Amino acid sequence: ECYVNPIFDEGADTLRGHLFGFRDRTEEERMDEMKNEFVSIISHEIRTPLSSIMGFIEILATRSVAEDKRVKYVETIHKESLRLSNLINDFLDLQRLDSGRQAFHFQTLNAAHLLREIVEQWQGKDDHEIELHVLAEEALIYGDEERLMQVFHNLISNAIKYSPGKTKIDVTVERADGAVSIQIQDYGLGIPVDAIDKLFTRFYRVDNSDRRKIGGTGLGLSIVKEIVEAHRGTVTVDSELGIGSLFTVRLSESWEE
Ligand code: ADP
Repeated sequence: ECYVNPIFDEGADTLRGHLFGFRDRTEEERMDEMKNEFVSIISHEIRTPLSSIMGFIEILATRSVAEDKRVKYVETIHKESLRLSNLINDFLDLQRLDSGRQAFHFQTLNAAHLLREIVEQWQGKDDHEIELHVLAEEALIYGDEERLMQVFHNLISNAIKYSPGKTKIDVTVERADGAVSIQIQDYGLGIPVDAIDKLFTRFYRVDNSDRRKIGGTGLGLSIVKEIVEAHRGTVTVDSELGIGSLFTVRLSESWEE
């Protein structure tokens, strides 16, 4: 940022000159900017489903509507309400993570046990074939159980959402280079090359005709990234359009200061 400050003689009000300079925007100012941007995006994201909900409710309340249309409108209201509710939950999660108000309860966990529990929760709930491959039974990680569950639920739910039904999803737990690596591989839509860099950005969604109908907030992967980074881990993606996607989370057993 560039600034110009007037300089006055001490004890007098005669102008001596001007001081020109540059300074970095402070952390506080940057945070403010980010918050403003966030608020403007979120209000747009809330307004869109809300106006659709209000519009359909108004039609249903004021006009006589044929039964098939009524069912369709109610479905839309339901879908948009769910979208709002997910948006608010994701948004609150991110706020908590950002402000440092999210308390983490770190402990030593067994990644194989954790993933087994998560995969079991999905089995039967969905028509994808989710297969768990445990290549290291003693894969220990230092982490917050609840938050890590959220990470893997998000990644598995994306794998499901962006793959045709009945396709396979491979979840692998292994040890590699002193860390634990958890991979979620799907054989679905894949991700365009130019989207990879932006994938973990808040509100970013791939805007392709093949996935426009799939609901989402574009916040899931940014939550994943924040949680993984709070664990001093990494999350990476490898993907080929039309072939599938591989998300890899690397976490360690302990943290070296
Ligand atoms: P959301 O799913 O709510 O849109 P995310 O932050 O979870 O938001 O993901 C961002 C975008 O990345 C999605 O819109 C989707 O297009 C793409 N994406 C995420 N996971 C996958 C996946 N497993 N396969 C294909 N595309 C994916």
